[in-house]
Amino acid sequence: MTAEGHLLFSVASLVLAHKLEITPEFTQGDWLHMLPGVLLGALLPDIDHPSSIIGRLFRVISVPIFKLCGHRGFTHSFIAWGLLILFCYTGIPTGWVLPNDLLQAFLLGYLSHLIADMLTPAGVPLLWPLPQRFRLPILRGKTNKKAERFIAVLLTVCACFIPTHISLPLQQQMSHFINLIINQ
Ligand SMILES: [Zn+2]
Repeated sequence: MTAEGHLLFSVASLVLAHKLEITPEFTQGDWLHMLPGVLLGALLPDIDHPSSIIGRLFRVISVPIFKLCGHRGFTHSFIAWGLLILFCYTGIPTGWVLPNDLLQAFLLGYLSHLIADMLTPAGVPLLWPLPQRFRLPILRGKTNKKAERFIAVLLTVCACFIPTHISLPLQQQMSHFINLIINQ
């Protein structure tokens, strides 16, 4: 998927998370925090590709990851996402003031990248280092910008039509899930 597709898909996911009130932060968060967070998170997994936007910015990190794990390897797995959750909740130096809504949007952006890459024929190794690739290949061809845009816009429009305060029991489950990862 293209970088543009990932950015659009991440914004659509953010609107969906806001409407479904997945956590209090997504419900009441500041869009000026959440938007940069989700966009950065959506680009980060492709740091394993030296020619990607983020890979070009951080070649010192990108090239070794690419050589060790290849593109769509470790960074496209649940292990990487779990480590990122752990870092966001326990590893950030106390002097850094990073709002919770920004961190959660960042983690959502990362997850949205993995899901979006699953829509392509190559899929993603969610259980890396196991070689199994998970895919739901509705996007054919190497880059299919029109289809990517269509899916992202469709998702955003659907999310906008979800009535507010439909109170799905998601908030408690999300905090249980985050606590589980931190405690593990
Ligand atoms: Zn990717």
